Amino acid sequence: IVPEMEKPEAAGERNCGGDHSRILVFVRLRPMAKRERDAGSRCCVRIVNRRDVYLTEFGNENDYLRLKRLRGRHFAFDASFPDSATQQEVYSATTAELVEAVLQGRNGSVFCYGATGAGKTYTMLGTVENPGVMVLAIKDLFTKIRQRSCDGNHLVHLSYLEVYNETVRDLLSPGRPLVLREDKQGIVAAGLTQYRAYSTDEVMALLFQGNQNRTTEPTRANETSSRSHAILQVVVEYRVKDAAMNVVNRVGKLSLIDLAGSERALATDQRTLRSLEGANINRSLLALSSCINALVEGKRHIPYRNSKLTQLLKDSLGGSCNTVMIANISPSNLSFGETQNTLHWADRAKQIRTKACEVNEETLPVPESETDQAKLLLELQKEN
Ligand code: ADP
Ligand code: MG
Repeated sequence: IVPEMEKPEAAGERNCGGDHSRILVFVRLRPMAKRERDAGSRCCVRIVNRRDVYLTEFGNENDYLRLKRLRGRHFAFDASFPDSATQQEVYSATTAELVEAVLQGRNGSVFCYGATGAGKTYTMLGTVENPGVMVLAIKDLFTKIRQRSCDGNHLVHLSYLEVYNETVRDLLSPGRPLVLREDKQGIVAAGLTQYRAYSTDEVMALLFQGNQNRTTEPTRANETSSRSHAILQVVVEYRVKDAAMNVVNRVGKLSLIDLAGSERALATDQRTLRSLEGANINRSLLALSSCINALVEGKRHIPYRNSKLTQLLKDSLGGSCNTVMIANISPSNLSFGETQNTLHWADRAKQIRTKACEVNEETLPVPESETDQAKLLLELQKEN
């Protein structure tokens, strides 16, 4: 039973076609884990109408009735997924539009954030039986390319990289750390593997292998470090002829990001931020929260340069890009503080405005004989 109460402001109008000027924000609640149930957890999150999220401290029925008086415990997002939501539902609602836009030469990015164990990797990569957003996006991309193969040849390239402890590594070809440098497309990791992909199965194997290459904590060699960020970049390039028979090259880039665990790392006020900077915690996540704060406050200077992660995400946060955030949360009252923090950040991210998402295209020089002008010249010559 959820009490009647004043609705928080909805996230706002959503434009069609994957072209929007603000970050779309989604929340996904995962099922209660056995270990949480064994520890006597109660569920402290309730999702209503696939939109509203109610959070109570102790998970009592009475708490929900008292919610009216508890401020800051009711949130609304573009969509909120209950623990019964399938991988396909999450993909369709959050990312499918972005894949369509990437095929038209636009950039898109999706990032998952939340505390360790909240379901980020499950949402992004998933399992072999229940593949997540990364795999479903590639599958959808190949299906769509097959359907429209008549309008040109599409090239699909993948890169999969990790940011760990301010070091960038290639997950498809582990080796020396990569150096970031600026080129005309933005910040790129020099020497990063660009894998030419042909089929979903092959990509799925590649991604699971890449995930195995993520950094692990020395004490827990089987678990990916909670401080590791993984970024999958899918670049789709194709050529079409425009009305004037010019060859146009279009390039769309989709970035799918599984962020490090956000516990203790995301602070709202500058004082807490500074005290955290001294401690040995994730510099990239701190920098991300500083950038989000600056973007929300409409600051002219956004401190992207403060970390590797924010340099790599510069385009996605403040550039011409369709951006989606998925906040992952646990239902257990034992994670109440982390869930509240995650929901707070998700709520804040709704205010970030992005630039209009433009098509990346370039008209290529064509052999003279193919241009209309050349044909015209030929005809003139014949007439003389
Ligand atoms: P994170 O990457 O945020 O640290 P994981 O994605 O590894 O968390 O999730 C922690 C555990 O919960 C994993 O065993 C995962 O399989 C499981 N899990 C997470 N989300 C779901 C879900 N929606 N449905 C079923 N199991 C899930
Ligand atoms: Mg993970």
